Amino acid sequence: MNEIKAPKGTRDIFAPEIQKWHNLENAIHAYYKKFLYQEIRTPIFEHSELFSRGIGSETEIVQKEMYTFSDKSDRSLTLRPENTASVVRAVIENNLFETLSPLRFYYIGSMFRYDKPQKGRYRQFQQFGVEVFADDSPQVDAEVMFSAVDFLKKIGIEAMQLELNSVGCPQCRPDYLQVLRKAARAQESRLCSDCRRKIDGNPLRIFDCKLPACAEVAASLPLISDHLCGECRDHFAAVRETLSWMNVSFQLNPRLVRGLDYYTKTAFEITSGQLGAQNALLGGGRYNNLIQELGGPDMAAIGFAAGMERIILHLEQLEPARPKTLFVAYEDPQWLAHAVQMAQVLREEGYPVYLDYQGKNLKKQFKKADRVAAAFTLILAENEIQSGSVSIKNMVNQEQIKISLKELNEWLKKNY
Ligand code: AMP
Repeated sequence: MNEIKAPKGTRDIFAPEIQKWHNLENAIHAYYKKFLYQEIRTPIFEHSELFSRGIGSETEIVQKEMYTFSDKSDRSLTLRPENTASVVRAVIENNLFETLSPLRFYYIGSMFRYDKPQKGRYRQFQQFGVEVFADDSPQVDAEVMFSAVDFLKKIGIEAMQLELNSVGCPQCRPDYLQVLRKAARAQESRLCSDCRRKIDGNPLRIFDCKLPACAEVAASLPLISDHLCGECRDHFAAVRETLSWMNVSFQLNPRLVRGLDYYTKTAFEITSGQLGAQNALLGGGRYNNLIQELGGPDMAAIGFAAGMERIILHLEQLEPARPKTLFVAYEDPQWLAHAVQMAQVLREEGYPVYLDYQGKNLKKQFKKADRVAAAFTLILAENEIQSGSVSIKNMVNQEQIKISLKELNEWLKKNY
């Protein structure tokens, strides 16, 4: 029979890598609580319309990358390709803007895109992200970016670059788009077929194309930074000033537009020099129109999403020491009950404990203790049981001592 493999673009995560995921997830929970963010968990699938309306029907994601299927009642559902639209839907549907304050969320979860798999790019991947609602202050933009940079630094990522742009707003962008369309049309023959289609749909996306010929055209196209309205210019200036108060360095990138339709004003990305082709660690920006677009109130919002696989790739050298394992061994199956109870007590105290229920003799159990990389093996044999004691073998230097059970806790506190 043919072996069944995991679908292309998905991967299994297990020891020792899984420890890094736990560390990263714990770090996210701890860090974002400092800024009063609350975790939000939304469904993994949503009505497809949420994404076509929320992300934009012209986008790459919606046109090419969604896992869309009909359920048994013929509803069109989609595995979430990103989480901002879902969080916005949840905020509106649950009236959270009336009941929660501040309206700040973080999330951790799987996203699904029919992308071309390669290192750092998968079809099921994990993102963590934040969304802050109901505050249009430029200082919030800066704080969100500060938190992204600071968080990555705190978990040990130094080599990164924050790129920043403003993509304008419904006041200034339409005029700019006209200018951009005109300029792009003049060079249409040099653009790929995808980019030609973007001229009418959303010409800003021409800046996203990685093909050299299109990038060359894009380099000569007019920039949004020269067409911002007064409000967007002031907002952007205040964002940059606040970043300097916060000591966050950044690079202006007037061609940074982001792939999704809903961005307004601030757009940013953090890239890493250590990741090769898939160098984006996270991306985000303001999306002041999305909430209304999805049927909610007129409310400002800003957020970002970070690729956790790419962060994990960075943490390669930061493997933390594994907690030491205690192995409880018994000389004869008749002492199994004692061993089971000892393991329970030790786990209750917080130690990782392994017990081999199939342990035929001590020699085999010592071998097993080595295989699970135990630091100490606690041995229960007739002599120990009779005298209310336990022998402890140091698995590194093979030294063995015997102590009374009463002293065990104290001994572990000193030697573990
Ligand atoms: P986006 O939602 O496209 O703005 O992406 C935000 C971040 O998610 C990116 O900067 C990447 O780090 C990560 N990401 C996006 N797509 C993928 C993918 N297919 N596989 C792994 N990570 C991804």
